Amino acid sequence: MAKVAIVGAGPAGATLALLLAERGIDVTLLERRADFAREFRGEVLMPSGVDALAQMGLAGLLDRIANRPQREFALYLNGRLSVSGSLDADAPVAVSQPALLEGVVELAERHAGMEFRPGASVRSLRRDGDRIVGVTFGDAAGERQVHADLVVGADGRNSFVRRQLAVTTRSTSPPMDVVWCKVPRPQWWRGARGYVGRGHLLIAYHTWDDSLQVAWAILKGTFGDLRGRGIAAWVEEMANFVSDDLADHLRGNTDRLSRSFLLESVSGRVVRWSRPGALLIGDAAHAMSPVGGQGLNIALRDAIVAANHLVPALSGTADPGRLARALADIEAERLREVAPIQRLQAVPPKLVLSQAWFGELARRAAGRAVQRPFVQRLAARRASDFLHGLTEVRLNV
Ligand SMILES: Cc1cc2nc3c(=O)[nH]c(=O)nc-3n(C[C@H](O)[C@H](O)[C@H](O)COP(=O)(O)OP(=O)(O)OC[C@H]3O[C@@H](n4cnc5c(N)ncnc54)[C@H](O)[C@@H]3O)c2cc1C
Repeated sequence: MAKVAIVGAGPAGATLALLLAERGIDVTLLERRADFAREFRGEVLMPSGVDALAQMGLAGLLDRIANRPQREFALYLNGRLSVSGSLDADAPVAVSQPALLEGVVELAERHAGMEFRPGASVRSLRRDGDRIVGVTFGDAAGERQVHADLVVGADGRNSFVRRQLAVTTRSTSPPMDVVWCKVPRPQWWRGARGYVGRGHLLIAYHTWDDSLQVAWAILKGTFGDLRGRGIAAWVEEMANFVSDDLADHLRGNTDRLSRSFLLESVSGRVVRWSRPGALLIGDAAHAMSPVGGQGLNIALRDAIVAANHLVPALSGTADPGRLARALADIEAERLREVAPIQRLQAVPPKLVLSQAWFGELARRAAGRAVQRPFVQRLAARRASDFLHGLTEVRLNV
């Protein structure tokens, strides 16, 4: 019986573990943290992510955990309302990611071949020649080893497995960071809003725990200066380019801002997703920028495509040649979606935060262009790519 070691129980690793364990493959899922309570994981599931969970048989779990559909949306350009509307069935949903992951792992653990190891930090890869044959991990009991026919690195944007495999990463990051904070939700707030213009980009949405999450993209390296001026000064900076109702709310709640921190925005992609006996998926293969709330959805879709190819390759006696072809097919299939989505994610920050001499001209031109119907149709198509994904992803094993 083939055995898989998955490093990292984020959305990519936890769901792949479930899919493989359900199909009779032995899985050890190793997670560095002892619990799932992490603040900064992506919380917004696009319809493509909701669909991925449904295909995995997890629609019931999604209904049971805390979630909040984002039916109303509005886009403001230079402080003025530009587009607004509501989505019924196909709305993005803010979910509690810790509850989602806990539920997925609990379901996976019902299968005989599944072993979940929380608090287990992978410290090295075991090799036989140039082939990866397992991992060494440390936990409260000391250091131990797991043998595996395949090691999957699903250990996120700073992937340890990726570093051990020494695969080259190409950055697709625009030079931005994200100030991430929560404020109490105003009674009148509904759904999600985006504010673009005057050198700023800010998204705010109604969270699953009934707060208002604010994500403010700033030029990389400028937070030190902002923080030095104190919270009231940087709240004032945000307030200056949003609509009046939100500006008043932010100013009135400066002392109730919670869990604020700076998140370094990283986005890039490895040039090869696999080596003999090892595969990278999720952010480990392609760190997604927070723009357009894509990382969680893409990670879930990676897990489906990986399962489609891995289940036949790992059933019965593991054949290294067959496995190598399956790994190459996973990369080729997912690249068709991941590469164009990363290109799309880079556009808004490049336009909004550009410091080049033509940056302001480009912003003004974009502000005027967006009033034109054909530009609005184009923007709606691109928004649909973010909502529904770019490729057909069907679980077929
Ligand atoms: C500020 C911010 C906001 C975002 N908002 C959204 C959003 O709204 N919607 C969206 O879709 N995406 C969003 N994203 C992106 C999204 O969070 C990620 O793309 C997604 O979590 C990737 O999932 P993953 O499973 O690949 O990795 P991760 O979620 O990063 O999981 C990796 C796991 O590996 C574990 N791990 C790491 N190293 C080791 C080790 N050595 N041994 C064992 N375990 C290890 C980690 O503890 C972690 O649990 C956002 C990202 C950021 C930074």
